[in-house]
Amino acid sequence: MRKVLSGTAAARGSALGRARVRLPHALDVQEARIEPAEVESELARIHAAVETVRGEMHDLRERLHGALAQEVGEFLDLHALLLDDPELLRGIDALIRTGLYTADYALRLQRDRIAAVFEGMDDAYLRSRIDDIDQVIGRLHAALHRRAADLQGVAGEILVTDTIAPAELAQLQAQGVMGIVTAGGSALSHSAILARSLHLPLVVGAPLALQKVNDGDVLVIDGASGLVVLEPNADDLRAHRARVADSKRERKQLNRLRREPSRTLDGVDIKLWANAESRDDVAEAHALGAAGVGLYRTEFLFMHSRTLPDEETQFRAYRDLVLGMTGRTVTVRTLDLGADKADNTGLALRDEPNPALGLRGVRLSLARDGLLHAQLRAIVRASGYGPVRVLVPMVSGIEEMRAVRNALREVHASLRAEGHEVADHVPLGAMIEVPSAALALRGFIDLCDFLSIGTNDLVQYLLAADRTNEALGELYSPLHPAVLQLLRDVVRLAARRGKPVAVCGEIGGDPLFAPLLLALGLTELSLHPGTLLEVRRAIRGCDAAALRAAGPALLRARDRAGIERWLAAHAPRG
Ligand code: PEP
Ligand code: MG
Repeated sequence: MRKVLSGTAAARGSALGRARVRLPHALDVQEARIEPAEVESELARIHAAVETVRGEMHDLRERLHGALAQEVGEFLDLHALLLDDPELLRGIDALIRTGLYTADYALRLQRDRIAAVFEGMDDAYLRSRIDDIDQVIGRLHAALHRRAADLQGVAGEILVTDTIAPAELAQLQAQGVMGIVTAGGSALSHSAILARSLHLPLVVGAPLALQKVNDGDVLVIDGASGLVVLEPNADDLRAHRARVADSKRERKQLNRLRREPSRTLDGVDIKLWANAESRDDVAEAHALGAAGVGLYRTEFLFMHSRTLPDEETQFRAYRDLVLGMTGRTVTVRTLDLGADKADNTGLALRDEPNPALGLRGVRLSLARDGLLHAQLRAIVRASGYGPVRVLVPMVSGIEEMRAVRNALREVHASLRAEGHEVADHVPLGAMIEVPSAALALRGFIDLCDFLSIGTNDLVQYLLAADRTNEALGELYSPLHPAVLQLLRDVVRLAARRGKPVAVCGEIGGDPLFAPLLLALGLTELSLHPGTLLEVRRAIRGCDAAALRAAGPALLRARDRAGIERWLAAHAPRG
């Protein structure tokens, strides 16, 4: 029967496809009992699920080729071992037989027992194997709920899951997934950023989806409104077709702006940089006339691999990036691993009690021997192929900028001494995304050649509102007087000291916010190429001088509603 579930819009696009449900790894299964007469059928269910999973893993192993076979194969072998461990099934059988628990709950109890043993281990690596147990248990749980019809591959499907890791997204899209719905998550998470970069429709924060949707159900999802329609009717299908046609039409109109300048009505040129994560982003940024790459998040290089890329591997990636931009400046951000950017390399700590406030970003780079050094060498070597800047994430004060500045100087000098062809000057910039850096900027702005304001994290830390926590709803928002004040102060100080400053958080990629950013005095934005033309269109409908004059009124707004009223009154023309 048709049902409409609502979530939060995270990556635009309308998708139609069959549902593929992936139940949470950490099972949230309530205690439930069965009658003694049901024991045999419950045992049969779990045994069938084990067979299904065994078969799936075998098939997956067979299909792996090349480099993947080695990398993913190791995981699969380990998972097969865990699945075949007689203790696992024996324990579940006993819980069903003697405890009269449902197979689901027995699975959960057995998972918790095994996890408790692993949690008690001293070795951090072994402790981290709980993730593998959870993946095997998760597969079993999913198999328990699979419909009889055999589901092959994920091409043409819409994945419904609890959360999605950034590292999974590209792989899913390559396999033909049409869109993704998650029960948790937020539109500001890295997965959402990446989904937008991949043009993969994504709806987050739709908790009912996991309860209501079954494998094979037909879904229509709208990544612009956050709506998920289960078993769509003719009207829904028509609306989906209309949205697809609309977006094609809009794309066509926007494409006319490819060669137009990002110039306001009163002739002020706004520099639009691109946030680029992949080769495709770089190509798109170039084709749309981006000023350069304003933010290249190098952690995506690290997140996909299980080993740390060495200097040479990194150098090749950065060099290709520079070459792809054919002489336009490329801003490479040093590693920003940690918190929601989990990795497989074992670099970031796994058990931090509060990872967003933990050993992440530049703190991690400075704490790990050789990490920053290798990365800076790779970046500076790339500068021999075109203009490059270095950007430092999660700066909280002068000490970190001093340390990176010194490291950059040393790396530059030694590369020169080794005979490498490198640029005479590689500008160094700080991300302003920790409130202390914004407030203490006066003390270290001289160490910076440029600044980039990371509003995604700045909002999170200033408002003490987790950017990935959907439950916080509108509490996480850049439309807060404190955020605007801090932005204005940073922009003002940068202007006084003659330092270029851009905004590279998601706010820069939303055309609705363009008038607000112009009013605060910004003239540079870095945004995902997917929204570059829309932002260019908005800028072309703005009067920069009038907006600057309206800046004080914006800063007088006392609440979100006041800021929204200001935005409504200053919407771009056209
Ligand atoms: C930000 O925090 O605004 C930012 C651009 O960095 P990231 O989203 O990668 O944390
Ligand atoms: Mg950040």
